[in-house]
Amino acid sequence: MADVAEVVSRSHSLNETLKNVVELVAKRLDADACSLYLSDARTRELTLEATIGLYPDSVKQVSLPHGEGLVGLAATTGQPVVTVHAREHPNYKYFPETGEERFDSFMAVPMIVRGATIGILAVQTILPRKFDSSEIEIFRTCAQLIAPVVINARLLALVGVSDEETSLAIANREASEARPPDREERNVEHRGIPTSRGIAIGTIYRLETPLDLERLQYTPNADPEREVEELMGAIGEARRVLDGMREKLGSKFGLDLAAVFQTHIQILEDKGFVAKLRKEALTTGNALTALTNVIDTYRKTFQRMSDPYFRERVTDIEDVGQRVMESLLGERHHTTPLSAGAIVVASNLLPGMFARLEVEKIAAIVSEHGGPTSHGAIFARTLEVPAVTGIPGIQSAVRSGEMAIVDGGEGRIILAPDEGVLYEYRRARQRYTVAIEHLDALRSRPAETRDGRGIRLTANVGLVSDLRLVDQHGADGIGLFRTEMLAFAHRGFPSEEEQAELYETVAKAMAPRTVTIRTLDLGGDKEIPNVGMRMEDNPQLGCRSIRLSLANQGIFKAQLRAIYRASAAGNIRLMLPMITSVDELRSAKALIAEAIQSLDRAGIPYDENVPVGVMIEVPSAAITAETLARECDFFSIGTNDLTQYTLAVDRGNEHVAHIYDPLHPAVLALMGTSVRAASRAGIPISVCGEVSSHPLAVPLLVGLGIEELSSTPSAVPLVKEIIRELDFGDLEADVRAAQDVGTAAEVHRIAAARLRDAGILEHPDIGPWLRTLVDKVLPGG
Ligand code: PEP
Ligand code: MG
Repeated sequence: MADVAEVVSRSHSLNETLKNVVELVAKRLDADACSLYLSDARTRELTLEATIGLYPDSVKQVSLPHGEGLVGLAATTGQPVVTVHAREHPNYKYFPETGEERFDSFMAVPMIVRGATIGILAVQTILPRKFDSSEIEIFRTCAQLIAPVVINARLLALVGVSDEETSLAIANREASEARPPDREERNVEHRGIPTSRGIAIGTIYRLETPLDLERLQYTPNADPEREVEELMGAIGEARRVLDGMREKLGSKFGLDLAAVFQTHIQILEDKGFVAKLRKEALTTGNALTALTNVIDTYRKTFQRMSDPYFRERVTDIEDVGQRVMESLLGERHHTTPLSAGAIVVASNLLPGMFARLEVEKIAAIVSEHGGPTSHGAIFARTLEVPAVTGIPGIQSAVRSGEMAIVDGGEGRIILAPDEGVLYEYRRARQRYTVAIEHLDALRSRPAETRDGRGIRLTANVGLVSDLRLVDQHGADGIGLFRTEMLAFAHRGFPSEEEQAELYETVAKAMAPRTVTIRTLDLGGDKEIPNVGMRMEDNPQLGCRSIRLSLANQGIFKAQLRAIYRASAAGNIRLMLPMITSVDELRSAKALIAEAIQSLDRAGIPYDENVPVGVMIEVPSAAITAETLARECDFFSIGTNDLTQYTLAVDRGNEHVAHIYDPLHPAVLALMGTSVRAASRAGIPISVCGEVSSHPLAVPLLVGLGIEELSSTPSAVPLVKEIIRELDFGDLEADVRAAQDVGTAAEVHRIAAARLRDAGILEHPDIGPWLRTLVDKVLPGG
């Protein structure tokens, strides 16, 4: 990663990026030549774009279709092509213009972004050399890390700015900027996706989009050259801010999150981007107009891309534009400052937002776009800032300075609340904070039912920065470490080295408490660039999770080795997601055995007794739990997916969200089957889906015989308090009753009645808060 960062900071155009990449790779692999071929998605031709070692004149002169020559073979198979004597290989094709007759050995690997081969990296040596499997693996990882950088550079190079596009950009901007309406109505409610829990009451701060010029009075200098200088100064300033932020966030939240800013730096460093700004500033004589026009052009080009991965890069371009604009306006034109208790309403939930705005002053965030798995959402939860995403039109529906309420847990914002509603929410917020604070203070109390049944309460986290929350809320270790979160922060999956370091930090910080590390669970709604993911019509049922890991064994084995390397402290458990049959478990275990052998060969120490468990999150796994239990060391039920697959409800589709209910009797029945199988095999079983944080679920999960609940860190004290008021004997009876009913609503009523009958509604801290929940389920009761 450090090398890749170095390449980015030394490269200012596509050509420079490619040249620096081949130099770096040749150096790292100690090869006499390194060449990079880019693939044209339309013609499927590979063209030599950069080389060190082959004749420089052959760049852009040598092209070959996928399938032809050794390079083309790597492109069609998607696999490395390695040969000691290239000329003897049946696919060898000689290109005299390259001077390659001097070279003997050859190795090529594809660069893959979202399942598509975007190019090939090849190295050659003069003397015969047998590349061993670890060198091939290093080369492959190198190509995976470099691919997103190359594609970003290529994307930036793609953008051409014609006069026509510029005026189009201005016309579009003018048409789209409508003023928010005046409000007469009170309690105007907008609903979105609950993204980060908590209640905030505050004043709206409408975060201007990069192109919202209406509110700014920018007076350009009379001399266009001065405008160019202003703009270049602002770029330099933005670059310094980004560097500073990378450092600041690195020390505050761990380096994993700081990597997000790499892409932004790459854009600011891009020669084409800077040249376009310069030209536009000279033509328009206005630095601000130039900036907005150029950003708009890039945005439009990216938006036209058919691939969603590329379309998402719009967010990066906008974030960079916003940053340069702030630097440009900073000295002379102040936008309204953020005041304490601000409800920030933005177009998107961007990670940079938290560093740019004063975090202490943000009471909540609401956004039009983005979802619960965006980088911004990860930050919001880490910082425990309530957030709601995905409310169309919210930016034009609000006015800066007006009062609003945000309920992050319910996913709603209420504009212009009247006194009655304000009073209700103030009480709710008070209940929430007092309860959490009180309960945090009691964190050393055991989680035990009145009749003495102990339950382990662990936390679900995904970033090193979340560890402080585990301690703050008194969780007994980590029941689910979602490793794909690291991948989001990195915009690609970190190397084995970096992972080993990260997992070790987590294990050491938690020792002797257990840390359950789940292997990469991508796909469905979670995408990252460098693990060879394909576009699929039905991604929740496609090549996701363990299927993706088994199909990308290089990345999977690197992760397994990293987990074992970090296991020396003896408190790591390894968990495999989305297992659907014992075959997958066996395949994964075979790769674990290979990873262990390679550590043995390298003399690297590890814990020989790392428990290997599976997630029960697909009905087939629950139904065949007996078989699975015989071949693994623990189970953890992932109710988020188990509910999705049992009820055939896409967990991210708001149109069917009313059917999605983890307390549906069918889901409970599958949990029951899994508990019985675990108990017969004598292996532990936990639940790590979101349901573990839900008050109504607690009595039922404990009654089912679950021994560990892993939840959002801030929910741990609440769950503990509920458990401490219950009798296990009652709960078993409740579960029997719940298994006899036909609907989720009836199950809710059984659980709500238990909370009420156990006297929890009288509890001084959580009682008032739970009463609102119980009242919804048992009206009048
Ligand atoms: C689950 O499916 O319940 C789970 C814990 O995994 P994720 O939410 O990460 O898919
Ligand atoms: Mg899952």
